[in-house]
Amino acid sequence: KTLVHGDQRRLFNTSNSRMTIMPAWVIDRYGSNDVLRFTKNASFPIINYPNEVVVQVHAAGLNPIDVSMRGGYGAATMAMKRDPLNIKQSGSEFPLILGRDMSGVIMECGLDVTPAYFKEGDEVWAAIPPWKQGSLAEFVVLSANEVSKKPKCLSHIEAAAVPYVAATAWSALVNTGGLNKDNCAKKRILILGGSGGVGTFSIQMLKAWGAHVTVTCSQNAERLVRGLGVDHVVDYTAGPVEVPLRALEKFDLVLDNVGGDTESWALGLLKPWCGAKYVTLVTPFLCNTDRLGIADGMLQTGVTVASKALKHLSKGVHYRWGMFAPNGLALDDISEMVDAGKIRAVVEEEFTFSQVPQAMLKVEKGHARGKTVVKIS
Ligand code: NDP
Repeated sequence: KTLVHGDQRRLFNTSNSRMTIMPAWVIDRYGSNDVLRFTKNASFPIINYPNEVVVQVHAAGLNPIDVSMRGGYGAATMAMKRDPLNIKQSGSEFPLILGRDMSGVIMECGLDVTPAYFKEGDEVWAAIPPWKQGSLAEFVVLSANEVSKKPKCLSHIEAAAVPYVAATAWSALVNTGGLNKDNCAKKRILILGGSGGVGTFSIQMLKAWGAHVTVTCSQNAERLVRGLGVDHVVDYTAGPVEVPLRALEKFDLVLDNVGGDTESWALGLLKPWCGAKYVTLVTPFLCNTDRLGIADGMLQTGVTVASKALKHLSKGVHYRWGMFAPNGLALDDISEMVDAGKIRAVVEEEFTFSQVPQAMLKVEKGHARGKTVVKIS
């Protein structure tokens, strides 16, 4: 309690004892959709560090990683992040709460969180790191540097469609790809997989920064991506997509949201010896650590990425892996772009809190056209 300031009364229930439980969707083991369980008795999140805030979740966005994590994907790396000294027993992550995107209202602030940054009642959005308890719950605790003021012009439902894909796109395009608002004009960017969450966000950010954007997607997604400002669309369902792509002028950056065999041809679409980069979001990093353990998995990952980077460097192009990284400061910039009308939320379907299993199934089926969002409160 000494870590917390603010109006404590908000967190007291009618019997005047501190709230210790909350409604949430949890899993108690990894598996298919039937492991999801609704409970009114999930542990209320506690502020453990003075830079943390408790947020009441109004809406939660889902991502493919929620479906993967439900099945145990990334469990080894997440266990290491949660418990670096490996003190806890295996399975101590349960009951686990999924949900990486959230929009809500700050209920409580740690002592180091000054009103200049956040205070109770602020409307905020955040992408929740996969090693933390997620947003399919009424409350969540986060570090203040993971949180950002939500764009004023978006509802909570719309806001919950943005942070995880935005933070991923920022990490891949800005931190790894070296793009920013001042160097994008006239750059030619190719996005493989333009119609899902990362694609629909990345298109808008790159167009706002003046880039020329080509995407691949299914024919029935062309209208959606054109509406977001794309310059050129290639239908990947019409035949081997690399054939029409090879006929185009070469690119300064390829963002790969698809993976599979794309690596065998996508680097050949880059301008050689110009600093052009291929950044893929589909990497074996978490699979390696799940399969081989942390030490061997990281070693294998390092060897794989280094050998591929060297191989392609000799051909004059850069090969990189992109990773989600929590980034409240990037969300501040994105919030401004949203409020300036440069980026909009692309919500494909909205579900109620009682429909979380249906929402997960929707994401699992694939063929996303933007984002799936759950209204929490
Ligand atoms: P979504 O499920 O929201 O979107 C995927 C989109 O790709 C769908 O619109 C799908 O539509 C389309 N698609 C499928 N196959 C192809 C293809 N061969 N060519 C072009 N488009 C295709 O996923 P996200 O946008 O959220 O994520 C994209 C990828 O990035 C996922 O694999 C995800 O796991 C990964 N990712 C990795 C992160 C990291 O930290 N490394 C972080 C976030 C995401 P349709 O099938 O109808 O064509």
